[in-house]
Amino acid sequence: MPDLDRVVREIADEMRARPDRGTVASYIPELARADAAAFGLAVVDVEGRAAVAGDGDVPFSIQSISKVFTLTLALGMAGDRLWRRVGREPSGSPFNSIVQLEREAGVPRNPFINAGAIAVTDLILSGHQPREALGEILRFMQALALDQTIAIDEAVAASEKRTGFRNAALANYMRSFGVIENPVDYTLGVYFHHCAIAMTCRQLATAGLFLAHDGRHPLTGHSVISAERARRINAVMLTCGHYDGSGEFAYRVGLPGKSGVGGGILAIAPGKASVAVWSPGLDAAGNSHLGRIALESLTKRMGWSIFAA
Ligand code: GLU
Repeated sequence: MPDLDRVVREIADEMRARPDRGTVASYIPELARADAAAFGLAVVDVEGRAAVAGDGDVPFSIQSISKVFTLTLALGMAGDRLWRRVGREPSGSPFNSIVQLEREAGVPRNPFINAGAIAVTDLILSGHQPREALGEILRFMQALALDQTIAIDEAVAASEKRTGFRNAALANYMRSFGVIENPVDYTLGVYFHHCAIAMTCRQLATAGLFLAHDGRHPLTGHSVISAERARRINAVMLTCGHYDGSGEFAYRVGLPGKSGVGGGILAIAPGKASVAVWSPGLDAAGNSHLGRIALESLTKRMGWSIFAA
């Protein structure tokens, strides 16, 4: 078995030496301030051993990676009824696409495209005040990451609120079909804020551990969700976690993963480890360019592809 610490260090060094970095997202103006040269990697295995390199302890905007955790929470609240509000098929469309909603009566294709995540957020919000729903999401992240200091970057949330016209269009469109029940401003407020949670790679990898361990957090022993549900969330991450780059990610990395436009990716090696990588430059599909390359290298060297015999 290769030495995990060494592999993680070597990958970080290799990535930091590369000239190709992708393009930092700027459609949320505050995200454009990220350091394009940053690179962090953290692997936490199911025994709790952590290997962290580069900027693995620097907080970044997790953006759409939060959708894995809101999906987990919403499934806990609504069970399989959730799937009436959102599908679970790959979209083949960009993360903020609206065309598919028209074809399918306002029901988003999956919980990881923006429309789907907004519908999931709406479900968590129902029966609560926005502040309560957001507190619930944040406390869930803190508990999973074993770190109460995790917080929302208010500047990022405000920046997205000012410029999130496309998400507002998606939410209003879904509201017209009754897929969204709450006032659109409330739902979007909670959505923008949970996307603006700032975490380090180490915190994120720790938070993802329950998905690598059949729904049970190996460090606390708590059962977060059933084994069956954890497997299903991993399946949706594999097929839908990288928008219209999901096929390419599965082909190259071979792990369930979820990306965010802040340049982070959470990837799950079931039975083995949870991995978080961060490099702010994105590829054309909006996924971290070096993040994907680093994960490809990690799974190859560790033999972690879920398709390996
Ligand atoms: N908050 C971002 C948006 O709604 C999330 C997108 C992403 O991370 O891919 O546009």
